[in-house]
Amino acid sequence: MTPPPITDDLGRTVNYMRLSVTDRCNLRCSYCRVGGGPVLPHKDIMRYEEMVELAKLAQSLNIAKLRLTGGEPFARPGFPKLLEMLAQSCPGLDVRITTNGTLLKGMPRLLMELGITRINISLDSLNPDTFKDITGHDLFHTVRAAVDECLEHGLKVKLNVVALKGVNDSELPAFLDLAMAQPLDLRFIEFMPMGQSQRQDEQYWSSDQIVASAGKLVDLTPIDRKSADSGPAQLFSLTGPQGPGKGRLGVISPLSHHFCSTCNRLRITSSGRLRTCLFSDREYRLLPLLRSPQHGPETVLRVIRLATQKKPLGYQLLRDKIGPRVCAKAMSAIGG
Ligand code: SAM
Repeated sequence: MTPPPITDDLGRTVNYMRLSVTDRCNLRCSYCRVGGGPVLPHKDIMRYEEMVELAKLAQSLNIAKLRLTGGEPFARPGFPKLLEMLAQSCPGLDVRITTNGTLLKGMPRLLMELGITRINISLDSLNPDTFKDITGHDLFHTVRAAVDECLEHGLKVKLNVVALKGVNDSELPAFLDLAMAQPLDLRFIEFMPMGQSQRQDEQYWSSDQIVASAGKLVDLTPIDRKSADSGPAQLFSLTGPQGPGKGRLGVISPLSHHFCSTCNRLRITSSGRLRTCLFSDREYRLLPLLRSPQHGPETVLRVIRLATQKKPLGYQLLRDKIGPRVCAKAMSAIGG
């Protein structure tokens, strides 16, 4: 018998899990891994077998979608092996990946073979020098080629851009040109002060400002969220002087227009800690339970269910929060 979907006390159905494969990353984005950040010892990181076990448990709770993220997932040795294990052990699970694209060369074919057809690639600048300034690495052309390789193999690509005023706002026309020419979703994400990255009001470029500026360059038509598989993004189709664009523009506004009432996600850190809300530092340690002979899968399932029931409304936490940060850990340590 299929178990009932997991819901929280507010009636939200949770059917989406983000699983961080590693807290390590091969880039040093200025807003994310400030100062490099400590990384966890290997013994504290879930083994691939444990990740698959968690994915199977999640699937038994009607989690339909699993996003693998990090850190940088492709930076963990053997990551393609995890993808194969998931394809074998969790048929029907909609697996997606968020990556910085630096290690993607040659991978898109395998992804398609494994039924992984959707990928989010982070690319904060179309200018090689700015890319290097932001990430600490001269890898713009590698990522740009990876985007093309994914599109050539038929993957659906979402391009994530952290919106940073004074850093990449002048590139809005170039980003729109790209979305006009290529069938991809360009998504600007509002910068969130997390971990050691400080709130920098002068860098805050809100989604309303982005949409207003974009609307002066191309015609924007809002797309209904439900029909668009857009997650938290508000999407727009684009029409320029030459006609309709191949891609779309999206904005994700965790700070200015929260989407907590429709939040359907859980996060698992690479050390196997469950977070039910990005903005809550409360974590439930699943890995010791999974590894314990006394507890095991039944206890893990019970903890996931109970924790999900109490899933908070992030915007309420932010309202009550004192201090400049939205949460204590950087995105790389949680799983972005
Ligand atoms: N390494 C992969 C990547 O670059 O996409 C996955 C992990 S990364 C932490 C996931 C996403 O979180 C990236 O798009 C990144 O730009 C975003 N991110 C990290 N810190 C952020 C912050 N403080 N505010 C908004 N987005 C952030």
